Amino acid sequence: MAAFSNPWHLAITVLAVHGIAPLLSALHLTGMTDSPVAIATALMISAAEVACIVLVFRPMEGWIPREHWTNRRYARIDRFYTLLKYFGVMPIFTYLMLQPFVYWIGTLTDGSHGNGPDALVTLAQLAPVLRDHDIVQFLIYFAIFDLVYYLIHRLQHAVPWWWALHSLHHSQRQLNCWSNDRDHYLDDLFEILIITGVAFLIGVQPVDYALLIVLGDLVQIFSHANVRVRFGPVLDKLLVDPAYHRLHHMRIDPERPHLHNCNFALVFPIWDILFGTALYGEKAHPCGVDDPAIDADNEKGFFGQQWAGLQRFARALAGRSAAS
Ligand SMILES: [Zn+2]
Ligand SMILES: [Zn+2]
Repeated sequence: MAAFSNPWHLAITVLAVHGIAPLLSALHLTGMTDSPVAIATALMISAAEVACIVLVFRPMEGWIPREHWTNRRYARIDRFYTLLKYFGVMPIFTYLMLQPFVYWIGTLTDGSHGNGPDALVTLAQLAPVLRDHDIVQFLIYFAIFDLVYYLIHRLQHAVPWWWALHSLHHSQRQLNCWSNDRDHYLDDLFEILIITGVAFLIGVQPVDYALLIVLGDLVQIFSHANVRVRFGPVLDKLLVDPAYHRLHHMRIDPERPHLHNCNFALVFPIWDILFGTALYGEKAHPCGVDDPAIDADNEKGFFGQQWAGLQRFARALAGRSAAS
């Protein structure tokens, strides 16, 4: 049987049958979603990503640290953000909120039905020559999503109410391999709604979408790691590396107050290069923000940070805040 053909599928099947399905049933949620296997797959992929952090990126921070810290006092909370998102918020949001909503509006996300025909336009329709070139199509979709993320990221810094939320990500002084998911949940919600909308508009297949999200996650997780790594003068123009993203997190340089407005791209630096926001060849700067009200996030716990972000958001909406 295909499901038992390798340990990965076996683990997913066991988790779905003996873990997720009984749990959904016990919580009376069976009617909300019909995807124990999909949930188990998402959890297994999350576990693989976390294993990558624990077994590769975190040890690298010990061997070749960019910054030397006497302790990881501020960094620790980011691990909680990552674990909570991967094993709690993401599966609950995706399968118990987003999926029923998508079913409700009549668009199927299930791979067996496909969402291609419902899309506004697909790549294969625009350029029939791509129909037989799956890898090229995948790379184009990846580039489109990364461009959307780049534009969202520019707005997160430029729009006061959005910066009020995104600044939580930037308040971290000890940028580290768990920092990618240190976000305000309202910020994540706005982002995911836009990205999901784009996914439906351009008809990316669910499997491709999942793959590009996972690959994008791995690049972004690594780019936050406190490691002395540069991909080199050619590869660092093609893929975001830790040196590149660390510059995006720099505190304001009083001598050059606009220098920190750089390196917004999440996976492909080409967007920064094209839009004139790329910064290369600069030495690493200390990370964080200079606004004491935002820097105070470092002294707060998870709920304190989320609450502070919400308060900043409310003040910005009321027009009473905001410098980025
Ligand atoms: Zn940013
Ligand atoms: Zn970041």
